Amino acid sequence: MSKVNNLKEFLEARGLGESDMNAVSKNSFRYTNYGVWVDEDGKKVRVGCIIEGVSAVTETHELKYPFEIDAFWKTLEEVDQEAEAIWDDTHGCPSCGEENEDGNIAINSECKSCDGEGIII
Ligand SMILES: [Zn+2]
Repeated sequence: MSKVNNLKEFLEARGLGESDMNAVSKNSFRYTNYGVWVDEDGKKVRVGCIIEGVSAVTETHELKYPFEIDAFWKTLEEVDQEAEAIWDDTHGCPSCGEENEDGNIAINSECKSCDGEGIII
C-alpha cells in the first residue's frame, strides 16, 4: 500500500470525497462514537478527543508524513476507544457507586437505576 505524503494524498486515501480538512473534521466528529477531532498542519495529522461533561481529553496522537492510511484509521479507532474508557470512568449515575477523588463516578454495568448506561453530564 502506498504512503500518504501530504494533505492531498490524505484526502484521496480517505476515499470519502472530501475537499479539505474542514470536511475531515466534520466527518470525524460525526462518525466516531465520541466525537474525535482531526487536524493537519502540513507536516502531520493529529487525532484526539474531548470527552463531553468532564474536562478530560484523550492523548493527542500524531501521524507524521509519510504514513499508511491504515495507521490513520487505526489511530482514529484507538482514540475513540480511549474516549470510551474515559467516558465509562466518569459518567456513572449516583446509584452506580461512590465518587472517586476527582468527583466522578464510574459506570457500573450492573446498576439498576441507569441500566449500566450511565448519565450524560
Ligand atoms: Zn447507574
